[in-house]
Amino acid sequence: MKKVMSSFKFIVTIMLGFLLVACSPSTTNTGESSDTPKPQTEQQEPLKVVVTNSILYDMTKNIAGDKIDLHSIVPVGQDPHEYEPLPEDVQKTSRADVIFYNGINLETGGNAWFTKLVENANKVANEDYFAVSDGIDVIYLEGESEQGKEDPHAWLNIENGIIYATNIAKHLGEKDPANKEFYDANLKEYVAKLDKLDKEAKSKFDAIPAEKKLIVTSEGCFKYFSKAYGVPSAYIWEINTEEEGTPEQITNLVNKLNETEVPALFVETSVDDRPMKTISNETGIPIYEKIFTDSIANEGENGDSYYSMMKWNLDKISEGLAQ
Ligand SMILES: [Zn+2]
Repeated sequence: MKKVMSSFKFIVTIMLGFLLVACSPSTTNTGESSDTPKPQTEQQEPLKVVVTNSILYDMTKNIAGDKIDLHSIVPVGQDPHEYEPLPEDVQKTSRADVIFYNGINLETGGNAWFTKLVENANKVANEDYFAVSDGIDVIYLEGESEQGKEDPHAWLNIENGIIYATNIAKHLGEKDPANKEFYDANLKEYVAKLDKLDKEAKSKFDAIPAEKKLIVTSEGCFKYFSKAYGVPSAYIWEINTEEEGTPEQITNLVNKLNETEVPALFVETSVDDRPMKTISNETGIPIYEKIFTDSIANEGENGDSYYSMMKWNLDKISEGLAQ
């Protein structure tokens, strides 16, 4: 019995020893003295933020840096109109302190995946989740004028991107006042950079002759861009929530293009590129480049931020149409 007790004591002593070592903050590899107590910094848990897509992710990252715990739902390169959230998305949305979505018929159109997601998570509009497009001048789908029929691609006008970023910074500052100054300072810097690109874009297409000046993409997502930068646009289908690439859609666009001298077609990274290849075969107009509309690029590639995707689009479209 005595032997058992003593080996028990021995194990307890060893365990306590491990615990002490594990808990001691001063046992570092630097070999510093453990006499000076560490200052007690108030370590607040970072704000938990969820965004619906990679463009909003990048904007939020530019403003908040590493101050927040940020989760983005729709992966890079995928279509944000129609999506099925994964268990991880549902869990992170439930726990989020704040959720940002585009609104105006993007995640709330089609299968309305975002509407279902926030309902199931018991989140409240304009308290827990915010449309970053709030305050922009809405453009509607062709022949429409009511709620639910908006064209969602407002971010393709950089002036709207600036409104998005400003909304994001405002709500972050309200939810996390301790870091408000940090967010505001980053916003200021970010807006200055975007504003410069926007101003350059205003005259970028001036020299392109009218018969060549037409942006042709699969989805009709360039309405805001067209209005902002003075380049008309055409498409195969108007919005990703409708049928994509029907024979009628193909014929309509081919007929339209045959009346122009458009030298280049473009295809978005977040759609099936086969319908545009058909258009190219039938018209003899080459696909000049991929462009970014509903997603940024993979990290490390051209277009892997909102700024860089807009710069890429502006450069490639003007180069392609100027041929
Ligand atoms: Zn789209």
